[in-house]
Amino acid sequence: MIEKIKSLEETAKQLEPGKEERKFITAKAFEYAENFLNEINSNLTYNISTQGGHKIDELKIGEDPENISTIFHQLKKEVDTPGINPASGGHLGYIPGGGIYTGAIGDYLAAVTNRYAGIFFASPGAVKIENLLIKWMASLIGYPDEAAGNLCSGGSIGNLIGIVAARDAHNLEPRNFSRSPIYLTEQTHHSVEKSLRIAGLNKCPMRFVPIDTSFKMISGELAKQIETDKQKGLNPWLVIASAGTTDTGAVDPVDEIAKITEPNGLWLHIDAAYGGFFLLCDEGKKVLKGLNKSDSIVIDPHKGLFLSYGSGAVLVKNRRHLLKSNHYTANYMQDAFNDDEELSPADLSPELSKHFRGLRMWLSLKLLGLKPFRAALEEKIYLARYFYENIKNMENFEVGPFPQLSVVIFRYVPLTGNANEFNKRLIEEIQKDGRVFLSSTTINGNFILRAAILSFRTHLDTIDLAIEIIKNKTEKILKTFD
Ligand SMILES: *Cc1c(COP(=O)(O)O)cnc(C)c1O
Repeated sequence: MIEKIKSLEETAKQLEPGKEERKFITAKAFEYAENFLNEINSNLTYNISTQGGHKIDELKIGEDPENISTIFHQLKKEVDTPGINPASGGHLGYIPGGGIYTGAIGDYLAAVTNRYAGIFFASPGAVKIENLLIKWMASLIGYPDEAAGNLCSGGSIGNLIGIVAARDAHNLEPRNFSRSPIYLTEQTHHSVEKSLRIAGLNKCPMRFVPIDTSFKMISGELAKQIETDKQKGLNPWLVIASAGTTDTGAVDPVDEIAKITEPNGLWLHIDAAYGGFFLLCDEGKKVLKGLNKSDSIVIDPHKGLFLSYGSGAVLVKNRRHLLKSNHYTANYMQDAFNDDEELSPADLSPELSKHFRGLRMWLSLKLLGLKPFRAALEEKIYLARYFYENIKNMENFEVGPFPQLSVVIFRYVPLTGNANEFNKRLIEEIQKDGRVFLSSTTINGNFILRAAILSFRTHLDTIDLAIEIIKNKTEKILKTFD
């Protein structure tokens, strides 16, 4: 048996590269990252080429080690070239993500040390960092000290955690679902409806409150709908507002909505996954009013704080509610309790073993300070206004509402022919070009183009380039369009 163990040990030890080997791998990885970053401004933002991403065979897993240069070559060709490059400043589609370098270093260190960030007992320091970040975000929102929260993987999971906390706080039982309406708008992110379904709440009637011409919930209509439902003997319990919708960047009038939810005892959940961090800058603060009046809120550090994907956050004003839906004990974890005040992520979310997400965020905020984040966010707001003014002044272009945050919607209205067809071709041409990436949406049956400006790498030159591309492609299509 000893012989067997020794022989297995020899192979198993390949999992632990020696000092020289570590140096070698690290240098190779560093070189890869450097090339990626040095080329990022000259490479396409969107690459529709069919050259990459299709040779699955090359990526297959085998029994034996392979050459690192070959692997990195495949990574570049098959993974980091085809499709959208979300790290590029030219990414103006959907809601752009981030990927600041300091965050990557935080991830590297978190992975090497692999601290167990789920439970205070296991890693008091890691949990303290995450709690400190939660407190920092809570104070940004204007939540009291007894708020709690969780650094989750993104806005979708954040919405799920918030909605489940709301459900449990209201002691909602399945037999009551069908008489307990939920209020939202058609502009609410689809992850909210997905969360409602996962939380078993799809039997709750969904009231899509009318929106105004700026795509914001009309609070008067919300009040009316709640009153009507109450008179029918129903149990209105949850309003979901958006602070920055994905489609148009609209911010619902949270202040006014809270004046309706508070006296009626409804839970107010805000999806601020995209918009929340604009609170860090003055122009954003003017738009984001009353977020502190909510009961729960979602904000995404992988959007507004420019971190790489996998960084979301949910905050719940009254920590009891978050604990109620997530706190569990297990016999094998009997050592893991502390009398300390510090809450553990495992008691505040469905996760147990978890990535130490806080490190990438904490390290970035510590190394860079808040100033550049505030500046970048305000810059995005002004870039959106600049883009809006330019498009508005272009012949036959039609713009949506003045951007509240950093999303601009627009379309070309041809003098003759089908506008939807034209705009479909326009987005195809822009995407085929690939230097910038824009996405589209449908509003009131119209095919609409949108520019969402949120990448920390997007600056004035990017926006000028986007405008130029839109102009050129429009002229090109006009030559053959009728
Ligand atoms: C991005 C977004 C989400 C979903 O968040 P993920 O981090 O992608 O899971 C939810 N709501 C809004 C408003 C968003 O912009």
